[in-house]
Amino acid sequence: MAKGELGIVEKGKNDLQTLADSSAQKCIIAALTKCYPKATIIGEEGQLALDDVPEEWTDISPNDEILKRTCPKDLETVKEEDITIWVDPLDGTKEYTEGLVGHVTVLIGMAVGDNAVGGIIHQPFVDCNGTKGRTIWGMKGVGLGGFDVRQPDPSKFILTTSRSHSNEQVEKALKILNPDEVIRVGGAGYKALLLLEGRAHAYVFPTPGTKRWDTCAPEAVLNAVGGILTDSKGQLYSYDRKTDVNNRGGVLAAYTKEYHDRCLAAFNQ
Ligand code: AMP
Ligand code: MG
Ligand code: MG
Repeated sequence: MAKGELGIVEKGKNDLQTLADSSAQKCIIAALTKCYPKATIIGEEGQLALDDVPEEWTDISPNDEILKRTCPKDLETVKEEDITIWVDPLDGTKEYTEGLVGHVTVLIGMAVGDNAVGGIIHQPFVDCNGTKGRTIWGMKGVGLGGFDVRQPDPSKFILTTSRSHSNEQVEKALKILNPDEVIRVGGAGYKALLLLEGRAHAYVFPTPGTKRWDTCAPEAVLNAVGGILTDSKGQLYSYDRKTDVNNRGGVLAAYTKEYHDRCLAAFNQ
């Protein structure tokens, strides 16, 4: 971005990649592979050669805060080879190319078998107490760090959806839900943060388009505080390494089951 040249390539219709996407993925995958050689790591940008990744990019220091927590019983026996890590090196690329850098997140989701169990949502461009960027992590049975969650206003019903990939089906669903307000922003990660910040009650995108790397980390972070992310019929996605990467049933997420149920009931009707 500082160079004034983002290196934009069109991967498909309405689907962009920049040098930042491939560079961030190389950094994340090289570092994780060094630490967890037996885990399966799947990145949005596919298999990229890692031979030009600088050594200092792969130094990971452990997060002291999370190491002080107790590992949930059901995860104590997990082996490295049972883990699948879903990496979206830059979520909200469309917005990034338009200079809307506040919508950009980096998503790293960890699955054990079918289930999303841990997630990181990093906001690289947000100013946070004088430092650039903040990192939010969440794990079911452990909690959430790096962020103060807030309840949404119970007297309102605010929805968040895509800014750049909406369609007739999404608009119809939004109408059925009859919200007080619709916040249209980029990225699945940023929309999950709007739920955690109490700025929206539900994330509604009932159409294909997002992929497993968009939802694994948000689902795990939401789960850490009792939130929920499913397809638009209420079915959980599998994050197993062999799964189809496309979230064909769309996305329905909420900070509480109550708001999730409210959307499902309206759709069923
Ligand atoms: P959005 O809410 O539109 O920012 O989308 C969230 C994530 O899903 C981003 O990584 C988008 O690139 C991806 N996505 C959503 N819809 C589509 C689509 N129709 N084609 C390609 N990617 C999509
Ligand atoms: Mg994405
Ligand atoms: Mg991406």
